[in-house]
Amino acid sequence: MTLARTPSVLMILLLTLAFAAIPLTGLHAEALKVATFKVDASPPVGSPLAYDPAKGIQMPLSFRGIILQGRDTYVLCSVDWLGVSSDSQKGFKQAIAEAVDTEPKYVVIHAIHQHDAPRCDATTQAVFDEFDLDYDMFDLKFIEEIQTKAATAAKQSLTTLETVTHIGTGQAEIEKVASNRRILGPDGKVKYVRYTATKDPVVRAQPIGTIDPLCKAISFWNDDRPLAVMTYYATHPQSYYRTGLANPDFPGMARNAREEKTDTFHIHFNGAGGNIGAGKWNDGARANRAVLAKRVEDGMQHAWEATEKQPIHAEDVTMESVDVLLPLSPFIQKEEAIRELENKELDRLTHFRAARELAWLRRHEAGDAIAIQCLAIGDARILHMPGELFVEYQLAAQKLRPDLFVAMAAYGDYAPGYIGTEVSYGEGGYETSRTASRVSGRSEQVLMGAITKLLQDHSEK
Ligand SMILES: [Zn+2]
Repeated sequence: MTLARTPSVLMILLLTLAFAAIPLTGLHAEALKVATFKVDASPPVGSPLAYDPAKGIQMPLSFRGIILQGRDTYVLCSVDWLGVSSDSQKGFKQAIAEAVDTEPKYVVIHAIHQHDAPRCDATTQAVFDEFDLDYDMFDLKFIEEIQTKAATAAKQSLTTLETVTHIGTGQAEIEKVASNRRILGPDGKVKYVRYTATKDPVVRAQPIGTIDPLCKAISFWNDDRPLAVMTYYATHPQSYYRTGLANPDFPGMARNAREEKTDTFHIHFNGAGGNIGAGKWNDGARANRAVLAKRVEDGMQHAWEATEKQPIHAEDVTMESVDVLLPLSPFIQKEEAIRELENKELDRLTHFRAARELAWLRRHEAGDAIAIQCLAIGDARILHMPGELFVEYQLAAQKLRPDLFVAMAAYGDYAPGYIGTEVSYGEGGYETSRTASRVSGRSEQVLMGAITKLLQDHSEK
């Protein structure tokens, strides 16, 4: 701090060194390259969506990826599915890493979390198989097909790598979409859960609450020609669901519309939207889907128009990670989960909860950590996070580094379920209940430690 205010001998020395280094890096700077790929990720008819079997496809789902080739090769992916967990995460990372000749740790897989869309969790399916539970919740054959298709498309896209001369960053507010789902009463406990479709006008009338209203856009350019854009916005994405018709819902519609209008590849990531939804603005009427899509599209457009560009080189792009073992929910007990899975009298939802708990507990026992990743691109930082993360994490990360452009993609590994803040676990409500969250409130300390470290480390560069 003192360094910044008072010029000192040390600072002059540092400045001299910095200037002396310019011609050298200038001479040796390698170009950053980008390629993109997209495959149809719509399930076949009859295949399970998150809550019902697919009767058809209302609008295709997509699996999209962007490849950044600097000194290492990074692949950022986003799919129009509910979530991708554990071994299914690993499967995608492995297949894509192999295809583009990089390491799985440099591949990130995120879902946008649409609800008329598939779940993807080979680990929970393995628990069902182990206990002879015949539930049709995951279509592993279809998932493997998409893994192969995505890997093939990623490999093919390498023939279309283009030079990136500039990165662009821009942000703008999205109006009347996000609202906090947890309305606290005077006793500090959750009084109402404001789900995405809120019929009760009293609940809709409650204040917006804590949200991040900003849509962030990071774009790649060859001089004045846009090559690709990535956007980030934190909210549950569903306007209404359980139609049996797969669709990418309002964030996907907004993304598709922008891609068409700008003629530029567009990949969208859901931010820390675990406790966020459109409930304040949506009574579930079907007409609202298009309204919400237009509002998101407008915000994406404004973020695009607000874009400022800076030159970029290969060495300005790095990815670092911190492995975390999220503290287990105190509700998860191994013997109980096994007893429930063995008891064939219990219903599907109880078995589903128990299977996910056992799968998660075993990962924990095996020390199978989740990597929190941070991609640095010039002054931009993108944090890649697991689960249905509360928006407070995103706001805290931005507050830690107001000097940087900090974006967050959550809904990476979906296995933990919701991840609240420490205080939220004492407040009640759905998100931190046993069904919804497989971690404890101590996760806040662990995750904030990782975020702080990653945002600090990258500042040294
Ligand atoms: Zn959710």
